[in-house]
Amino acid sequence: MSDVLYFNGRFTTTDERVLRVEDRGFLFGDAVYEVFKFLGKRPVFLRNHWWRLANGLKAIEIRNPWDEQSFADTMRDLLARTEFDDGIVYIEVSRGEGERAHFYADDMTPTAVAFSRRFKFPDAAKKARGIRLMSDEDLRWKHCDVKSVNLLANALSKKKAQRAGADEVLLIDRSTGGDIVRECGSSSFFIVKDGRVVTHPLDCHILPGVTRDHVIALAGDRVEEREIRLDELDGADEIFITSTTLGVMPVYQIDDGAKLTAGPVTLELQRRLDEEERR
Ligand code: PLP
Repeated sequence: MSDVLYFNGRFTTTDERVLRVEDRGFLFGDAVYEVFKFLGKRPVFLRNHWWRLANGLKAIEIRNPWDEQSFADTMRDLLARTEFDDGIVYIEVSRGEGERAHFYADDMTPTAVAFSRRFKFPDAAKKARGIRLMSDEDLRWKHCDVKSVNLLANALSKKKAQRAGADEVLLIDRSTGGDIVRECGSSSFFIVKDGRVVTHPLDCHILPGVTRDHVIALAGDRVEEREIRLDELDGADEIFITSTTLGVMPVYQIDDGAKLTAGPVTLELQRRLDEEERR
């Protein structure tokens, strides 16, 4: 079955070929995107996704096709037309169509698309066992705080990890002299050490994850936002990653390091995030 598709102010299905080859999203990766989850047709953390989208568009000077209200109305309309209750919505806004030239016009009309998809969220067994990471060098650009569709470095590293039998890639920045753990290919990264919940601070090296934000709020004064060195991982009591689609996911191994079991802090935050999502 084809999925419902929102395209520049109207609804159609993903069977319709709507994009022109001159779209700068296609030609230059000149676009930002969002992914939110919905449960029982209700969007989860929609406001946070709206703010990140609005900030990303502003950062790269693309006109926002929505205000907060029209965005929320469009997403609710999309979900009302969707034939299943749980899944994800993918949203992308590009600078729009124009002749292929690096210099873009200042007044371009953005292209806005959104579609819903069924999604297999991790089941209880997977959430208890966790996943395995493979480390790889972080070769992304220096504006990782913008959720841009330029995901080639992420995709190549994730594929390498998959071929090595891992579920996700852990991106290590070697450009600063030390080996700094930034985040994962499509998720935020946390360690727990002596009761402290440690994660990378918000800056240009990581995406401001919506799930990261909620987990930080849940962990309260146990949180330390600071850079993590690669050699600290061996001594971590617990390791987990977070994302819209995975929630809080324990990490049971990185490369060929010692195996971990999902610890009490990880499982507490996982349970509390799940409760919050359902609220
Ligand atoms: N970091 C990166 C690079 C991502 O691509 C994602 C999600 O796609 C995340 C972190 C997690 O963000 P969120 O919790 O908003 O899904």
